[in-house]
Amino acid sequence: MTREDLPEVLEIMKREFPKWHAPIVKLIAQKRKDPLSALLCALLSTRTRDETTAEVCKRFLQRVKDPQDLLEIDQEELEKLIYPVGFYRNKARQLKELAKQLVEDFNGKVPDNLENLLKLKGVGRKVANIVLSEGFGKPAIAVDVHVHRISNRWGFVKTKTPEDTEEALMEILPREYWRDYNRLLVAFGQTICKPIKPKCGECPISKWCGYYSSLGK
Ligand code: SF4
Repeated sequence: MTREDLPEVLEIMKREFPKWHAPIVKLIAQKRKDPLSALLCALLSTRTRDETTAEVCKRFLQRVKDPQDLLEIDQEELEKLIYPVGFYRNKARQLKELAKQLVEDFNGKVPDNLENLLKLKGVGRKVANIVLSEGFGKPAIAVDVHVHRISNRWGFVKTKTPEDTEEALMEILPREYWRDYNRLLVAFGQTICKPIKPKCGECPISKWCGYYSSLGK
């Protein structure tokens, strides 16, 4: 897969996306289109299935409208509210600290740049890029395990870590595709290009895939 192939490949993926009924679609549907919602749901989603995160985000966002709500909510109530996301007790503590930081250091607003987002409690590059892309509509590439694995399977990048993948993609992926890249590859990775036993027989883009051609097909 080369940079020249990418527009056609991503066009096919956009067309196929609704047919996959990927779990990420349920999660996207629960989020309000604002930076705080993008940030909180991204933090809740770590080490948790998207189906579970979607249900939790729905009730959580009904109760928590701004950082002040999070500051005031009782720790025990918060734990109950976000259960059963992974590590819900730690995440509840982390969310309280995050709310304090937002109120004290950022005037109650989610920062709109990578540098300040990375200062927030529990926020790494993946979450920060999700916030920039989904919450602020800025060009950013959120690289998770799906994006990292699939970009390498295609042979589009040759990298060892998600951080290296993000750097490589920023070099070769035209900016117009940055925001869609995560959504498309996560859905594709959840349903077709799975970590174990990818469904290459059903894959609409196999002719561009380095992994597939290495199988001699
Ligand atoms: Fe993934 Fe197989 Fe498709 Fe390649 S051919 S992108 S490995 S599902």
